[in-house]
Amino acid sequence: MTDTTDSYHCFHCEKPTTSIRAIPIMDEKEEDRWEMLCEDCYEEWLHSLKG
Ligand SMILES: [Zn+2]
Repeated sequence: MTDTTDSYHCFHCEKPTTSIRAIPIMDEKEEDRWEMLCEDCYEEWLHSLKG
């Protein structure tokens, strides 16, 4: 039985991942809001920034 105690869940795709990225969310109402994304979603987010 393997226990992944150090795993996170991606905010976007909700997959469990051990490698998580925190990205800042620009929100007019909330300050310092962060989302935790897996590598795949993080890559997508980077591309979306570039347009
Ligand atoms: Zn993801």
